[in-house]
Amino acid sequence: MKRIAYLSREVRALFDELEEASRDLFSLVDVRCPATCHECCLNPAVQATVLEFVPLACRLMDEGRAEEVLGQLEGSAELKGCVFAGIAGCSVYPDRGLICRLFAASVRKDRQDRLEYIACSLLHARHGRYLPGQTPAPVITDWGLRLEAIDPAMGCAWYPVNEAIRRALEIVLHTNHLDRAG
Ligand code: SF4
Ligand code: SF4
Repeated sequence: MKRIAYLSREVRALFDELEEASRDLFSLVDVRCPATCHECCLNPAVQATVLEFVPLACRLMDEGRAEEVLGQLEGSAELKGCVFAGIAGCSVYPDRGLICRLFAASVRKDRQDRLEYIACSLLHARHGRYLPGQTPAPVITDWGLRLEAIDPAMGCAWYPVNEAIRRALEIVLHTNHLDRAG
């Protein structure tokens, strides 16, 4: 598990850094979602990498819940959204993935170097499609590349969110099993 534990720590460190880098945006623009809206978590087509869910998978394994969640994901094609989306929102919020942290709280630069706000139609209606030029917002592609640099194999391929979570759980459980056997 040494390699997995290392990856988990590195990804968590990246999340902490992102939180720090997002402070100015949060203080300047009200990017909070309405408390009752969890629409984007109910979209199972949201794409994520395996690596961003390694810390969550490690936490679930430590808590003895990894196999239970894996079981729920076996029929993930029938799930109506992310396996962790509930009526009160994300049930694993502190361990959510990178895309969960960046959506509605980041920008991408378009060809004219304008900062296009990455968000849903509701937040676009509130803030517009573009944030003012000097808004200190995380650039989504930069953070994706930072994640990829931690482990290119697990950090660059994108899957529907439940598939990414399932793969992360399988890797963590399998590695743990090999460690115990060896
Ligand atoms: S990003 Fe948009 S769709 Fe997602 S929870 Fe926030 S307001 Fe709702
Ligand atoms: S893990 Fe991400 S996609 Fe899933 S419920 Fe939490 S915030 Fe939503």
